Order: sequence, then structure tokens, then C-alpha cells
Amino acid sequence: MDLQRLVRPNILRLKPYSSARDDFQGDASVFLDANENPLAMPYNRYPDPHQRKLKKMLAELKNIHERCIFIGNGSDEAIDLLIRIFCLPGHDNVIIPQPTYGMYSVSAEINDIGIRTPSLTNTFQLEPDVTLAAADENSKIIFLCSPNNPSGNLLRRADIEAILKSFPGIVVLDEAYIDFSPEESFIHAIDRYPNLVVLQTLSKAWGLAALRLGLCIAHPDIIALMNKIKPPYNISAVTQQLVEQALAYPEQKAEWVKQLIAERNKLVQHLGSISLVEKIFPSDANFILVRLKHAEKVYHYLTQNGIIVRDRSRVVHGTGCLRITVGTPEENLELTRALERFENA
Ligand SMILES: *Cc1c(COP(=O)(O)O)cnc(C)c1O
Repeated sequence: MDLQRLVRPNILRLKPYSSARDDFQGDASVFLDANENPLAMPYNRYPDPHQRKLKKMLAELKNIHERCIFIGNGSDEAIDLLIRIFCLPGHDNVIIPQPTYGMYSVSAEINDIGIRTPSLTNTFQLEPDVTLAAADENSKIIFLCSPNNPSGNLLRRADIEAILKSFPGIVVLDEAYIDFSPEESFIHAIDRYPNLVVLQTLSKAWGLAALRLGLCIAHPDIIALMNKIKPPYNISAVTQQLVEQALAYPEQKAEWVKQLIAERNKLVQHLGSISLVEKIFPSDANFILVRLKHAEKVYHYLTQNGIIVRDRSRVVHGTGCLRITVGTPEENLELTRALERFENA
């Protein structure tokens, strides 16, 4: 892969904004450089634009070098930055095997980037040949999601590697749900694949969706480009502090994951006993894709009963499907009871 050739020329040329605190390294006690209000406390100072402490904790937790980590205001920020680094508006395109997470397409469209949409198989697996055949010389990024949203399954490791080996552009692998799966993350494969960009998030297993924190793990040259174009203070001081506190207790996350997987398995069992349910797709995540009879009516019935699930009946291979997040034991019971009431009505 030739990174220089892949990056948009204006991004290569860009002289990034240098924030007040970038010019100075070391100890100081008088800060008169950033036009802050010295009288107000405790939120009067700009946050660390490089999130050094947070990166150090993440590097230790994930056993990966700090220079391989970018921190975004949600994974959604990372997706947008990657598109803006590599894709020339009105000219380049990205490849997004369907069905998958909607933000890749939205971000591409906002940036006026072409979208190519080969299909996953009807069991939501990748076909490397089909995916690669969708590419032309202007294809810059392939977006893969494993475990995939909305289907819940892991993509096969060998298929992901086949794409990493053959595609001359960037392969973004979104691992938002990796904590719920039995498979190992790809983050340690960045040494072997300089074109691999792994996305992770604190929004799911870590339970911090409200804080907006997404991670991007890749070769330091790619991370440097992301840092070059990001808004200088993209992660608030409050988010940095609260995430640092949460990361100190990884055993809490592990416990939640264990409980949610147990609940998922119970929910799968219970759904299997409801005759309205035609198919339950195997899940390696904290949600289940389910095909039901009368899916549209069921969806509206649930909504009327204050139970919100995601209607996925219009996505490729998703006919009659709803996506159900695993909730608390009480919430899951409310859901299955409502389905049984609909069935018996
Ligand atoms: C929920 C989700 C995310 C998380 O996005 P954030 O912006 O980090 O909250 C990313 N990718 C996928 C596939 C998701 O389902």
C-alpha cells in the first residue's frame, strides 16, 4: 500500500491548526496563552488536545502502542475523518457490503463520495471476490463490520484477511461489538496489514454511549493523518476524566458482558418458543436479528406498548426482520410477553 498516493493531496499539504498548548511542553504555572477565564473553576481550561493520559491507559489495557491510537468524539467522528482523509469528493468511492451500519453511507454521502454496495450472503457473510469485484481505481476504503450490525454475526477471519491482502486501499474494520464475541480483535494485526484501520467504541460493552468516545487503531502514519485534521479539542475534559475512571475497572465491563450474553442466550431460547418467530439469526453481539410473521404489525404493536425495537425489514436480506437489543431481564420479559399477547390476540 502506498499511503502517500492514497491520501488526498490537500490533506498531505495541509499545515494543521496548532493549538495554544501545542507550542509549549513542560511545567508552567501561569497560562496566559488561550484566552481562558482564569476566575472560573473547574471547567475554565481547554482539555488536553492529545488525550495523553487516556491514551496511556488505553495502550496498557489493549497492549498496543499509544501512537497507534486515535480517540474520536464517537466512532462516528473517526468514520468521517477517514473518509475526508482518503476520498476526493465527486471523484472517489467507498465499498460498503450490505446490510451494515448506516453511518458509513451517510458519512460518504455528506462528503459527496460514491458508494458501492455489494451484498453479503443471505447468512450475512462476506464473499471476498464479490466485494473486491465492486472496486475500481477510485475505490479508497472498504467498510467491514464484525460482529456485523444489524445481523449480529462475526465475519469469517479468513475472508477479512483475504480482503486486507488484496485491496490496495484502506480496510476499515468496525469492532463496536467485539467485546460480546468469542473472537479475538484484529487490533494486533495492524503490524501485518498497514492498510487496516480498526474501530472500537466505549458506547456498547463499556456502557458509556452518552460520553461519545470512539477509538481508531491503525499504523501510526494513518493515526498521524487523523490527528492532523481532527478538531483540536474534540474530546471534552469531562469525557476524558469519566472515561479514565471507567477504564480503571475493566472487570466491571467483563461482568456486564457476561450477564448480557447470558441474557441474550435466554432471550434466544424464549423467542424460539414463540410461533410468530420464523428465524433467529446467530448473534455474537448484544442484539439479535429476528425474522417474524407480520413483522410490520408486530413492530407497531410493540411501539404502542412502549417497547422500541429496530425495524430492519427493508435492508438487504432483512425481509420481515426486527433487530432487538438485549435489555435487562425485566425488559426482555416485557418484550416476550408482548409478543405472546400479539400472537394470542
Ligand atoms: C453503535 C455502533 C457504533 C458506535 O458509534 P459511536 O459513535 O462510537 O457511539 C459504531 N459502529 C457500529 C457498527 C455500531 O453499531
